[in-house]
Amino acid sequence: MTNETLERLEAERERTRGQLHGLMRDFDQVVEASLDSNADDEHDPDGSTVAFERSQVDSMLQQTRQHLVEIDAAMERVAAGTYGTCESCGQQISEARLEARPVARLCIACASAKESQR
Ligand SMILES: [Zn+2]
Repeated sequence: MTNETLERLEAERERTRGQLHGLMRDFDQVVEASLDSNADDEHDPDGSTVAFERSQVDSMLQQTRQHLVEIDAAMERVAAGTYGTCESCGQQISEARLEARPVARLCIACASAKESQR
């Protein structure tokens, strides 16, 4: 089970790193595009769209970086032997949930209770 879990987390980390590279490329392109349009015309009507795209890519970059941090934390929990245990109620998190969300820290019951508190 532990090896499988580590493999799953490693695969998730690879995938997320690939995503991060793609996003950084997108970000560069958006920045370049905005520099080009500024050079052509300062009052480019597309200016706001570029700013919007830039903030979209920027927030996705942050989410992706955050996800990498979560994956590392999950790997540390595997090493510590606490992986798969709900941090709130101490119950075992279901295998199906861990498959869908390998970085889950809460069981489905606690996670949905937390969701409804918002
Ligand atoms: Zn729980």
